[in-house]
Amino acid sequence: MQIKRLRLTGFKSFVDPADLVIEPGLTGVVGPNGCGKSNLLEALRWTMGENSARSMRGAGMEDVIFAGTATRPPRDFAEVSILLEQDAGEETEVVRRIERGAGSAYRIDGRDVRAKDVQLLFADAATGAHSPALVSQNRIGAVIAAKPADRRAMLEEAAGIAGLHVRRRDAEARLRATEANLKRLDAVIAETD
Ligand code: ATP
Repeated sequence: MQIKRLRLTGFKSFVDPADLVIEPGLTGVVGPNGCGKSNLLEALRWTMGENSARSMRGAGMEDVIFAGTATRPPRDFAEVSILLEQDAGEETEVVRRIERGAGSAYRIDGRDVRAKDVQLLFADAATGAHSPALVSQNRIGAVIAAKPADRRAMLEEAAGIAGLHVRRRDAEARLRATEANLKRLDAVIAETD
């Protein structure tokens, strides 16, 4: 899977719609301090399903919406779109949008989906919101200092099996619910015998 284009509208400092075409190969983002380099990485992680305001360097999730400057009024929504090329060559567009007071919503190719659907799409492709493939400042030190269990989680995500853990937890929960139902059914059958 490859990211082909990032489109931002009203996200942090990107108040006007901005399109970034990402060519194959290594991509570097350069610019003076404070010009928005980290905001770009955050836009990617946010659209992939990041839900921690702290890791978006904000107090609340709405802090990703353009807050206004001396010359421009604040916006009431932020939207980021990631255009992907899947391994088979077909394109997929993932969009996340947040509105003040109304929370955020996701779409895949125009269809409304759950956060979990987007998280799984990227977890399976080993490019999830916490993937080591997006290396932000201080992350390299974090990998070195990580506890063995945390480092294993990073390696598992890099190996593309993080999505399987989520599905296993879901399957186990369904199994437990079914077992509980079976027990209840046994009790009912015993009463009617
Ligand atoms: P550095 O090299 O110093 O890390 P950078 O290029 O990574 O800088 P960012 O940290 O991505 O820059 O961008 C910071 C800028 O984004 C600041 O000018 C900040 O005011 C602006 N910014 C962040 N959140 C918002 C927001 N919600 N509304 C408007 N501007 C914002």
